[in-house]
Amino acid sequence: MNFFTSIVEFFSSPAFRLIVNLFFLFAFVLYLSLAKWTYADARRRGAMAFYWTIVTLLFPLAGWLVYLIVRPPEYLDDMRERELEIRAKEALLSTSDVVCPSCHKPIEKDFLICPYCRKKLKKPCPSCKRPLNNSWAICPYCQQIL
Ligand SMILES: [Zn+2]
Ligand SMILES: [Zn+2]
Repeated sequence: MNFFTSIVEFFSSPAFRLIVNLFFLFAFVLYLSLAKWTYADARRRGAMAFYWTIVTLLFPLAGWLVYLIVRPPEYLDDMRERELEIRAKEALLSTSDVVCPSCHKPIEKDFLICPYCRKKLKKPCPSCKRPLNNSWAICPYCQQIL
């Protein structure tokens, strides 16, 4: 019975109570950190940060796990960066959709001459100097008859 009484003594000792208190303190700090992390992460991902923080606080671990599953897959910054990249690529494509009929290199729509093969692409209007198609009979910008 000596062993049993020593166990009872241990559970009622100040040392055991200290361990229990430390455990609860640790759990509480973990709980707050989890909520704080959820708030920061949800904000970075453009999720409803306030809502998810409340859910994590109301259902510690369970609410947090649900958030981990349904949260947006990428950060807002990454998303913006990717959109910029796509836009830059689109801009690149739109400038190269006009090609020289002779050498097929990318040119601008208003080039008078191909800078690669020197083929004459357009003629300047004698009046307003805008680039005109060779086959046009009148300048569409200033109505100069050619
Ligand atoms: Zn050319
Ligand atoms: Zn003109």
